[in-house]
Amino acid sequence: MERVFVVRYSEIGLKGKNREFFEKRLIDNIITIVKPAAVNKRYGRIIVRIGRNDPNVLEERLRYVLGIQNYSLGYALPHDLEQVKDVALKLAQNEVANGAKSFKVAAQRGFKEFPINSMELNREIGGYIFENVANLKVDVHNPDFEIGIDVREKEIFVFCGKKALSGGLPVGVSGRAMLLLSGGIDSPVAGWYGMKRGLEIQTLSFLSPPMTTEKSVQKILDLGKVLSRYLPNPLKMWIVPLTDIQMYIKDNAPDEYSLILQRRSMMRIANMIARRNKAKALITGETLGQVASQTLTNMTTIEDASTLMVLRPLVGFDKIETTKKAKELGTFDISIQPYIDSCTAFAPKRPATKSDINEVREIESKLEKLHDLEYEAFKKRELYKITNE
Ligand code: ATP
Ligand code: MG
Repeated sequence: MERVFVVRYSEIGLKGKNREFFEKRLIDNIITIVKPAAVNKRYGRIIVRIGRNDPNVLEERLRYVLGIQNYSLGYALPHDLEQVKDVALKLAQNEVANGAKSFKVAAQRGFKEFPINSMELNREIGGYIFENVANLKVDVHNPDFEIGIDVREKEIFVFCGKKALSGGLPVGVSGRAMLLLSGGIDSPVAGWYGMKRGLEIQTLSFLSPPMTTEKSVQKILDLGKVLSRYLPNPLKMWIVPLTDIQMYIKDNAPDEYSLILQRRSMMRIANMIARRNKAKALITGETLGQVASQTLTNMTTIEDASTLMVLRPLVGFDKIETTKKAKELGTFDISIQPYIDSCTAFAPKRPATKSDINEVREIESKLEKLHDLEYEAFKKRELYKITNE
């Protein structure tokens, strides 16, 4: 008797070649992230074979595979009704031991040559469970649990219930993007939503040594560790020192524009690093209207320095929603550690909330050393590789 996960994904909107590509990537990601005994594609489902592994360990890892709609932990059995009944009964007994009082059987006969149809299977197996478990009634409308029987050409899958996962697309199907990862609450969450739409990510963080210490680096790496669980490959994390650029801007440009100018420098450096690593877009944790730098005019002025598209998965989120997700992902407790990223150290006293692109370009054009300083910062980039172990 073999233990398996029956994994279901949403195929809505996926057709032809796209669908094959999606399925192949999902299977590859399950293999590398979950590390099961084997994975097969069968009848629009994915069967993850547990083998000698601990099902609890694999189940935990399955949660990190984006693109899965829901799954069931169950058994793959031969075409033998007695075994099916036996396993269904054991699953039911287990539920009753946990307090369940009603059930139903939901059989599906995908393999039409099997001699018993789904209605008869429901009746036969439901009756068997009913006779053998005390204090359990049938409730076809709102049961406490549901025994699934899925008859396929070579095997019958028997399981109890379905557990929902995040859905989305498998990481990698949408290409690669560079996440601008600060130490704050928002950007790690934005990175997760990017991955949920099929983006493989790398991260880029700007720090201000020596004002920021090793603790800030460690905080960023800890955030990366959480995100890396969702990736089938090690996470590449880039760290760039912004201090010289920040000092130069502070000394040579109007204070109210310093934040926007710093952000424009970040954009240009991010573009350089992204292009070298074949990332096709940037991701930020910006929302609309949250802080001075996130008014529509300022975002426009900042994005003007990027030739790559800037994705903002959190644009419609409010802080409560982002915080809830950060807690769910496990990034919140890391983000609230007091070690700063670059920006707080050089924040202007009264940042402009409205900016004019032409005016900012004009001011920037007089900062003669800026280009060289950006190139210097780019050359000082450091790479950390985080594995999803
Ligand atoms: P977060 O919670 O992600 O820090 P925030 O609410 O503090 O966001 P901002 O400080 O305006 O907002 O930053 C907006 C976005 O710009 C961040 O979400 C991040 O993507 C990027 N960013 C800001 N500072 C840095 C930095 N030091 N390194 C890398 N990216 C940064
Ligand atoms: Mg921040």
